[in-house]
Amino acid sequence: MIVAFTDLDDTLFQTLRKLPPGMEGLTPATLGRDGQPHSFCTPAQSALLAHFANTGVTVIPVTGRDQAAMARVTLPFTSWRVLDHGLTVLRPDGQVDTDWRGQVLEGLETMQSALADCTQTIAELAGALGCRLTRHTAHDTHFMTVLKHPDADADSLERVQLALEKHLESRGYTDLQIIANANNVSVLPRHLGKAEAVRYLRGQHFPHATLTLALGDSLSDLAFMNACDLAITPPGGQLLRTVSAAKLPQR
Ligand SMILES: [Mg+2]
Repeated sequence: MIVAFTDLDDTLFQTLRKLPPGMEGLTPATLGRDGQPHSFCTPAQSALLAHFANTGVTVIPVTGRDQAAMARVTLPFTSWRVLDHGLTVLRPDGQVDTDWRGQVLEGLETMQSALADCTQTIAELAGALGCRLTRHTAHDTHFMTVLKHPDADADSLERVQLALEKHLESRGYTDLQIIANANNVSVLPRHLGKAEAVRYLRGQHFPHATLTLALGDSLSDLAFMNACDLAITPPGGQLLRTVSAAKLPQR
């Protein structure tokens, strides 16, 4: 059995803004909140998904999307699904996996006060810089705070990121980490996420998989990609851009 654990946004599909203008052969993959097609698979991404389907590869999404955002993905996923950055695992029948939920809630309990403190501390600066602050919950429990700038202003986002990093460092909040993307900065658990959910699924439900593939585009995917046998990442994604920019000594 071959299992492909795959990130969704910017790995299996992306918005038109991130594609060359006029690209042909696109397949709608998600709907926006307005019900209109929002993200699309390129012909290459569609070919990969068709290849997985035709060869019996089990495809498991591993995404930051919550259940509402996942419901707007129109690609047919029929196996397990990892949502909320790993905090929620859905069974093939669509029900929440209660064993994983139990482990997650136990882990989150110890981080609640640190997360609340970070959120409260950054709220004022974020507001002054025009960033929108959102508390994300999984299983009715706060697990992540996201700061988004409406115009993806890099300077504002960097100031928020630096202030948060400083706060985490000074308070010794080692259970939390900060991840940054093009238009947002997030505070979330360091050791309770996509990688742990993938390890849980591998151990509990796919112990006999002969090959596990990991597909992802972002630094935040790195840990779960490292938990699989082989990693696949798109050109121009955050991961390859970061590696390309690194001045590594040649040896
Ligand atoms: Mg992604």
